[in-house]
Amino acid sequence: MRQRYSAWNLLAAARGGHTDWAPAWREAEPKPRYDIVVIGGGGHGLATAYYLAKNHGVTNVAVVEKGWIGGGNTGRNTTVVRSNYLYPESARLYDFSVKLYEGLSQELNFNIMFSQRGIATLAHSRHDLDNMVQWANAMRLNGVDSELLDAKQVQALMPRLEMSGASRFPVLGGFIQRRAGTARHDAVAWGYARAASALGVDIVQNCGVEGFLTEGSGSERKVVGVRTAKGEIRADRVAFAVAGSSTLLADMAGFRLPVTSWSLQAMVSEPVKPVLDIGLLSPVLGIYLSQSDKGEVVMGGGLDRFNSYAQRGSFATTQDVVAATIDLFPSFSRLRLLRQWAGTVDLVQDSSPIIGPTPLRNLYVNCGWGTGGFKAIPVGGWTLAHVLATGKTHELAAPFQLERFHTGRLIDEAAASGIAH
Ligand SMILES: Cc1cc2nc3c(=O)[nH]c(=O)nc-3n(C[C@H](O)[C@H](O)[C@H](O)COP(=O)(O)OP(=O)(O)OC[C@H]3O[C@@H](n4cnc5c(N)ncnc54)[C@H](O)[C@@H]3O)c2cc1C
Repeated sequence: MRQRYSAWNLLAAARGGHTDWAPAWREAEPKPRYDIVVIGGGGHGLATAYYLAKNHGVTNVAVVEKGWIGGGNTGRNTTVVRSNYLYPESARLYDFSVKLYEGLSQELNFNIMFSQRGIATLAHSRHDLDNMVQWANAMRLNGVDSELLDAKQVQALMPRLEMSGASRFPVLGGFIQRRAGTARHDAVAWGYARAASALGVDIVQNCGVEGFLTEGSGSERKVVGVRTAKGEIRADRVAFAVAGSSTLLADMAGFRLPVTSWSLQAMVSEPVKPVLDIGLLSPVLGIYLSQSDKGEVVMGGGLDRFNSYAQRGSFATTQDVVAATIDLFPSFSRLRLLRQWAGTVDLVQDSSPIIGPTPLRNLYVNCGWGTGGFKAIPVGGWTLAHVLATGKTHELAAPFQLERFHTGRLIDEAAASGIAH
């Protein structure tokens, strides 16, 4: 039974010195058997478990996480939520996710602090402007909000932006998605965990998967469970949503994924008073910025330039991000860098995800979100839960199957996926 969070309950708990709050979710030990086991306690794995229970009534489910929930990329990202993608397939997928985000705090009864402050993409040349006209119009044709901006409008949105023309890459305009914004990343993981746990899902931390239990051979080979640090768990269906570790799980299962793993880093300045009430992205300079509710300027950039499973970034990329930030906002040179970190992201050649069955029967995957899967947590969970519960691919996920690497129907979102890579 979940304890409801409300102003009334907050007041009532204050009378007892806030000592009576129940843990947000049940810490479970694995049972020998489940209907479905989801590997990976990031946002996608937890959302999958929640929608299995909520949308399909499948509650005999375990989420097994090798560390702590939200300790992967879900707790390491720069929290940008947007749906400014180019192709109709992606627009449908990501906009469905933004719509779910819009109601998520109420649905989960957990404040995920979704702030639709708008995200502006900056143009630094005539060619950028031409591209952005095409991009913003494509979004509108796909039913996603977007507005073109001239230089004056950009300046009005970001008064501290260097607009004197003295910078190496002067800003000529851009476009904005006003419904885009940021959400508190670990609250998304905790909110889904709490809601899933209340519906009966077991969340098992410190339980890394070390192998798959299979039966049969050849095309009849099927997964019947997992071998974990806490023993064997049998299941009718298994899914993995482990981001940068996807290739390692595929290796365990005996097939290859068209995925490579890279370090992606981010950093924050010391906290200051509000200086930037919008998110911005400069594809040319390779950075994006926002200011957190705590006042830190959050800075992100491109991938490190070599493959890695390390959760730390290289100094060269840190330098590039800081240099580009100061180019755009010279006054930020007086801020001290407070923290820098990285996550391991899973990149697919067309920068689009994979959500669906694998070559091994009863085994499903959600991966390939690369640098941009935080915004997709609701839809990633929704569509993976659908195929796990019904055996049928959800229409939003249909273009994002593994088979596209055989048919060649790739959805190349490299530009819209964030920073060019
Ligand atoms: C620095 C940075 C900035 C980013 N910024 C943004 C952004 O602004 N907007 C956006 O939309 N996206 C962003 N992203 C991408 C986004 O964070 C990811 O795409 C998303 O969080 C992926 O979620 P997930 O649940 O698939 O993976 P994760 O959150 O990484 O969760 C996977 C989990 O699987 C677990 N795991 C791995 N192997 C095993 C195993 N063998 N057994 C059990 N568990 C295992 C891991 O411990 C981990 O907790 C950013 C990423 C980084 C690193």
